[in-house]
Amino acid sequence: MEYDLIILGGGPAGAAAAVYAGRKKLKTLLITDSFGGQSIVSDDIHNWIGDKNISGFDLAKKLEEHVKTQKEDVEIQTGLAEKIEKKDKTFTVTTKKGDSYKAKAIFLAIGSRRRKLEILGEKEFEGKGVFYCSTCDAPLMKGMDAAVVGGGNSALEGVVDLMSYAKKIYLIHRRDEFRGDPVTQEAVEKSEKVEKILNSSVVEIKGDKMVTSIVYENLETKEKKELKLNGVFVEIGAIPNSDIVKNLVETNERGEVVVDHKTQRTSVLGIWAAGDVTDVMYKQNNISAGDGVKAILNINDYLCKECE
Ligand SMILES: Cc1cc2nc3c(=O)[nH]c(=O)nc-3n(C[C@H](O)[C@H](O)[C@H](O)COP(=O)(O)OP(=O)(O)OC[C@H]3O[C@@H](n4cnc5c(N)ncnc54)[C@H](O)[C@@H]3O)c2cc1C
Repeated sequence: MEYDLIILGGGPAGAAAAVYAGRKKLKTLLITDSFGGQSIVSDDIHNWIGDKNISGFDLAKKLEEHVKTQKEDVEIQTGLAEKIEKKDKTFTVTTKKGDSYKAKAIFLAIGSRRRKLEILGEKEFEGKGVFYCSTCDAPLMKGMDAAVVGGGNSALEGVVDLMSYAKKIYLIHRRDEFRGDPVTQEAVEKSEKVEKILNSSVVEIKGDKMVTSIVYENLETKEKKELKLNGVFVEIGAIPNSDIVKNLVETNERGEVVVDHKTQRTSVLGIWAAGDVTDVMYKQNNISAGDGVKAILNINDYLCKECE
């Protein structure tokens, strides 16, 4: 059987797209390993429109329930897509499990994942003092010493999250200035708990059962120092999950799928993308959902033209 559309991803972009695809009566297959996307780990989301606050877990549940209202037209397969091939006007998606599905159009909503430091001890102590979500894990640092690694907004916000819990916060950045919004930067500057360590990068994370210290290197003097602490929050950005389409559609130097922001079309006719996997300037739940909707409306127009 050939679907009209295969949607990859069950985050806000994929879920919003699936609801709209169902309402447009497109014969759709949604492939995802989970619903909710990246903010599922968040305790409290305050900017999902229509809910003044909601946990990531509840948001995921609501997205899944909403998609399932379209079960007449939208089938769900749990898993991850591994390969997409195009032959004439037909796409074949093969999953990690080895199943293959055909469709006339593809919508990529496969999001992104947190960037890692790739240093000694990082993997070993992941979840045992090495964290990637300050919003989620800052409370674990109550009365303890922690470091935040990074220099953008997410690092600065990480420091703010920690201020209510940690005794001391080291903010370690490899450059000599930060790239965050002025309000957050000011809050960080004002706090007596924060010690900035600039022009430095963390080279090793040490511990026994949990993290006990980190080693950082001053990039100018090459001097290495060890800091005793209990937690490291890695806030150095995200990597788009675009590996499976890198040889198929145009991506930019950051690996983001390049789209036409009017229609969400990629460089390949028949493939659309939205959300954090794309070169959209702002990465947010509402934006992903909205751009997912935009893509489906354009896909619907495209498929209708095809059947004329
Ligand atoms: C800790 C944290 C807190 C955040 N808090 C907020 C907030 O408060 N407000 C806000 O607006 N934004 C927040 N964000 C950002 C927001 O989560 C993202 O902008 C949003 O999730 C992007 O949605 P998306 O659908 O594009 O992708 P994602 O949410 O990344 O979803 C991608 C989906 O695709 C699936 N997938 C990946 N690869 C494949 C594949 N090969 N095949 C099939 N499926 C695949 C994934 O499992 C996932 O379901 C937060 C992000 C993080 C990390």
